[in-house]
Amino acid sequence: MSAEKTSKPNEPEEQEALEESRDTATEMGSAPPVVEAHDEMTPFEAATYFFHLAADRLGLRDEMRSVLASTYREMAVQVPVKMDDGFIKVHRGYRIQHNGARGPYKGGVRFHPSADLDEVRALAALMTWKNALVDVPFGGAKGGVQCDPRKLSEGELERLTRRFTSMIGYIIGVQRDIPAPDMGTNAQTMAWMMDAYGQKYGYTPGIVTGKPVELGGSPGREEATGRGVVICAREIAKKRNMQFRDASVVIQGFGNVGYWAARLASEAGAKVVAVSDVTSGIYNKEGLDIQDLHSFTADAETVGDHEDGDKVSNDDLLEIECDILIPAAIEGVITSDNADKVRTQLVVEAANGPITPVADKILAENGVMVVPDILANAGGVTVSYFEWVQNIQEFRWEIDNVNFELKKRMTKATEAVFSRSEHDETSLRDAGFDIAVERVARAAELRGYV
Ligand code: NAD
Repeated sequence: MSAEKTSKPNEPEEQEALEESRDTATEMGSAPPVVEAHDEMTPFEAATYFFHLAADRLGLRDEMRSVLASTYREMAVQVPVKMDDGFIKVHRGYRIQHNGARGPYKGGVRFHPSADLDEVRALAALMTWKNALVDVPFGGAKGGVQCDPRKLSEGELERLTRRFTSMIGYIIGVQRDIPAPDMGTNAQTMAWMMDAYGQKYGYTPGIVTGKPVELGGSPGREEATGRGVVICAREIAKKRNMQFRDASVVIQGFGNVGYWAARLASEAGAKVVAVSDVTSGIYNKEGLDIQDLHSFTADAETVGDHEDGDKVSNDDLLEIECDILIPAAIEGVITSDNADKVRTQLVVEAANGPITPVADKILAENGVMVVPDILANAGGVTVSYFEWVQNIQEFRWEIDNVNFELKKRMTKATEAVFSRSEHDETSLRDAGFDIAVERVARAAELRGYV
């Protein structure tokens, strides 16, 4: 099976690296067995669990199931970094390509202490389904370096990024695999990645998306994931005859996605009553001033230290009564321990995998509607696609065009998921997976993978 486009490695050493990574992929990326949902599922087991449910509903044949449940290629690398004190610290880094039937692999790079092989595998698989669901011509991939970026200086972060890029340089490419920002990385990280790649292969802006606009990034990419979350939440609210204007909204995470979701939800008239970062959160039932909080976090240790409300823990924040709850930080935060205490009608998964499979069932039993990650946070990759198109065409779009096309695609995908869920009487997650798996399976079949 080959999930690649026809581009060939340029040098013998690249060929060797590719062959080596193919060999290891067969050992490391095999599909986990189909299991019942339970509390101790790893992120990859959880992601694969939702896939298997879709495969059952769609009656997927076994060969196709095993191709789509496992990762295509996994590259695990050592990332030694000279720290500011002269000591060399070795980090683990990964680039995992899950499935490339629908196009070049595409997915973010995460710098986070929990970014291990299993987590990156899960995120790579989710990218395959997400890209198919919003119908961008990409396969799914993800990268990660296990580190705490908050504890690294600017210089250390730059050296780590450059080293990681040169290690995975063999398997990425404009027509092969295109990284982007995720947790702990941003436009500056992408600028370093582009530069490190360019030093070896020549000027290649399309090698990453989410770059600074000055380097060929797209206007509107920074806020795209949060904007997509809000478009999706408003569409679903409309379908449920729920007023988005004046709806109370709680958001976990105040980074790129959480901040932009909070800001744009506020601008659309919703009342954002709580937000949090990794340390703590802030709650004010009258609503928060998002811009003020954002300025405050530039210097403060945590958003919870702001005086405009009550300090809350991340656990308590998830239990605040509200109309819409938006987890926008990390996976596995709503579990069987707290799902019963979630007091909202609608959860919009801005983060990847924030609800465990067991918690997903509990929320469904309690009548809580969940907008799945593969739909809700797909705005980021959608504008990444626009950025890639602009880089290839060497033509810059206006921001209005970017936002117009984003809204069109997010609305269309939301509509498709909602209609399918009504028609099949399934959850939005099941409907989203069914549409996505069908599309990827069809592409894999046409290519002759199985
Ligand atoms: P970010 O690094 O900009 O922000 C992450 C936020 O989460 C920060 O406020 C951080 O303090 C908080 N956080 C980290 N660990 C936490 C924990 N254990 N508990 C509570 N809060 C914690 O990252 P981001 O880009 O905003 O990504 C957030 C989520 O959105 C991730 O799940 C990511 O995969 C997903 N996502 C991001 C994009 C994107 O374009 N950046 C696209 C799609 C999905």
